[in-house]
Amino acid sequence: MRLLVFLLLIAIVAVIVVKLVKGALASPPSAGDDKPGAANPQLVRCASCGAFVPRADALPSPDGFRCSDPACRANA
Ligand SMILES: [Zn+2]
Repeated sequence: MRLLVFLLLIAIVAVIVVKLVKGALASPPSAGDDKPGAANPQLVRCASCGAFVPRADALPSPDGFRCSDPACRANA
């Protein structure tokens, strides 16, 4: 019975260690960015022509966003 408890403890510790390692591997990219919006602007897709444009430059429309192309904005 002690062996079973011991194996169970090892399994639990192994799961915790794996989660910690995965968390340590996953966190640096997001934690290293001080200004994620400035360094990696969020791109949105133009609902008219399908081009990806920074959200700051996109024009909101009922069906999504439009790029700065005058033709796309005319269709909005
Ligand atoms: Zn467009």
